[in-house]
Amino acid sequence: MKAPNTEQDNNKNSTPRSDFIRDIVREDIRVNKNEGRLVTRFPPEPNGYLHIGHAKSICLNFGIALENKGGICYLRFDDTNPGKESIEYIESIKKDIRWLGFDWGKHLYYTSDYFEKLYEYAVQLIKAGKAYVCSLSTEKIREYRGTLTEPGKDSPYRTRSVEENLDLFERMRRGEFGDGSHVLRAKIDMASPNLNMRDPVLYRIRRQSHHKTGDKWCIYPMYDFAHCLSDSIEGITHSICTLEFEDNRPLYDWMLNELRVDCHPQQIEFARLNLSYTVMSKRKLLELVEGGYVSGWDDPRMPTISGLRRRGYTPEAIRNFCERIGVSKSNSLVDIALLEHCIREDLNLRAPRVMAVLRPLRVVIDNYPEGQTEELDAQNNPEDPGMGTRKIPFSRVVYIEEDDFREAPPKKFFRLAPGREVRLKHAYYIKCVRVVKDKQAGKVIELHCTYDPETRGGWSSDGRKVKGTLHWVSAAHSCKAEVRLYAHLFAKANPYEVEDGSDFKANINPNSLEKLTSCRVEPSLAGAKPGSRYQFLRQGYFCVDSDSRHGALVFNRIVPLRDSWARIEKSQKKR
Ligand code: ATP
Ligand code: MG
Repeated sequence: MKAPNTEQDNNKNSTPRSDFIRDIVREDIRVNKNEGRLVTRFPPEPNGYLHIGHAKSICLNFGIALENKGGICYLRFDDTNPGKESIEYIESIKKDIRWLGFDWGKHLYYTSDYFEKLYEYAVQLIKAGKAYVCSLSTEKIREYRGTLTEPGKDSPYRTRSVEENLDLFERMRRGEFGDGSHVLRAKIDMASPNLNMRDPVLYRIRRQSHHKTGDKWCIYPMYDFAHCLSDSIEGITHSICTLEFEDNRPLYDWMLNELRVDCHPQQIEFARLNLSYTVMSKRKLLELVEGGYVSGWDDPRMPTISGLRRRGYTPEAIRNFCERIGVSKSNSLVDIALLEHCIREDLNLRAPRVMAVLRPLRVVIDNYPEGQTEELDAQNNPEDPGMGTRKIPFSRVVYIEEDDFREAPPKKFFRLAPGREVRLKHAYYIKCVRVVKDKQAGKVIELHCTYDPETRGGWSSDGRKVKGTLHWVSAAHSCKAEVRLYAHLFAKANPYEVEDGSDFKANINPNSLEKLTSCRVEPSLAGAKPGSRYQFLRQGYFCVDSDSRHGALVFNRIVPLRDSWARIEKSQKKR
C-alpha cells in the first residue's frame, strides 16, 4: 500500500509539525531514550465502527511514527470484552485505517494474543501480595469504593493468604465459579484520593465465547491491567491516549513498576475530538444504528469513517482536518463547519463540474427548432484547466431549478422572471415570455422563453449584460436521478444538552435527510460509478452513493457550496 502523504504534507509546510506530544517524542529521540526507538500504537476496541475522533488518534499515532526516522505504529485490537466485540468490527476498523492512508505493516496484534502472559503476570502479582481474589458482589465493591470526598473501605477478602488467592484464581480460570462471584483485584490503597487506585478490579469471570480464543477462557482482564502490559509486551515507547485516562496513569505506572517489566512505556494524554452537532462514542452510535435512527454504521449522516466515506469525504480532507485541529491538552468542541471547509477545499481542486437540476422546472424555448440538438463546450474545472472540457447537449426543452424562477421577483433576485433575460451557463441568453400555471394549485408548471442565437456559449457579442446565470439540463438528454440532501444529525451543537429525563436522542434532527427523487443530471453522468465525486454547479459537492445503479443514479450531497466556515473565519479575523 502507498505510504500516506504525511511527509509531503510536511514538506508543503516546510516546518515540521509541532505540538506537545511531538515535542516530547523528538526530545526522547534526541537524548536516546529507549535506545532511540519510537513505537506507537493505535489500540481500538473492536466494539463498533471507527469515528472521526479515532481518525484524530490514528493520524497522531501513525503520523508521529512516519515523521520520525525508524518510527513504527502498531495496530492492536484491545479485545478483552467478548460480549461486545466482533470480527465484523475488526474488519471494518482495518479497512478504515487503510482507507485513511495508514499501514501497520506486519504489526497487527490482539490483546487476546497475550491472555496467557497476562494470566502469568496476575499470578506474579498475587505471589507478591499485590493482588487478591475478592468475593464481594459488584454492588458491594462499588459501595466499598467510597467517593471523591470519602475514603473507601477495605474488602473483607483483602487479607486472604497468597495460597488461598492462588488457588481461587486458578479455579476462576478453570471455570469452577459463576459470573460475578469473584474478581481479582489489585491491592493498593482504599483511601487513595485517586479512585482508580482503590484496589481496582483486574480480572472478572465472563462465560462468553471470544471471537479469537473461543471458549478457552472464562476470565477476562480489565482495561487497566491489560493495556499497560500489552504496551509493555510490545515494546511501545509512547502510549498516547485521551485525557480521560489521565487519572489512570498512576495505575498504569504502578502496575509496570510492581511487575518490574523491562519495558515501561510513557503514557501521554491529549484532548479527544468533540465535534458539534454529532456524538462521538461507539456506544452512542450503536444506539443510533440499533434504534433505526440511521440506516447503519455507514449512513452518510454518521460521523463514522465509513459514513463519511459513503457521504463522499476523501481521506485527504479528513487528514487535513486532523492536522488543522491540532493536538492539545484542553478539551473543546470543534465546529463541524471546519470539517466541511476541509472537504470543500479538497474537492474544489479535483471535482469535475457538472450540471444537475434538483427540482426541475420545464422551459420550452419557443424559437429553437424542434428536433434540433447541438453540443456545447464546457470546461470541466476552471480551477484546473488540465481537467479538459466536455460536450453538453442543448435542445428545445430544458429544465432549470424551480428556485431560479419567480413570477414576482423580490429585490436582489437576479434570476429568471417574466420578461427578464438570463444566461444559461455554457449555452445562450434566454428571455421569459410566458408562464404556464396549474390554475388549481396556483403553481408554475412550465415556462416559455426565447433564446438569442447570437449568444452561443453564454456571451453576447453586443456587450449586453445579464445579471443571472442559471444551470440547466436538456430535457431529452438528461438522466433521472435521486439526490439525498443531508443536514446535521442533531439539532443542537451539543447533543448532550437535554431536558431532565431524556437523553441525547431527544436532540436528533428529524429533518436530517431529504430525498429528492425527480432530479435530472447531465448525460455525462449516465455511467457514474459509486464513489465518484462532482461539483453540481451552484449547489455543492455530490458523491455517487453505493445504492446507485446504471439507470437509477443516486447521489449524496457531501456539502453545499456555501462556506459558513469561511465566514466564521473571516469574522474571527476581524475581531
Ligand atoms: P468510544 O467511546 O467511541 O468507544 P473509545 O476511546 O472507547 O471510544 P477505543 O476503541 O478504545 O474507543 O479507542 C481507540 C483509540 O482512539 C484510543 O486511544 C482512544 O483514546 C482514541 N479515541 C477514541 N475517541 C477519540 C476521540 N473522540 N478523539 C481522539 N481520540 C479518540
Ligand atoms: Mg470504549
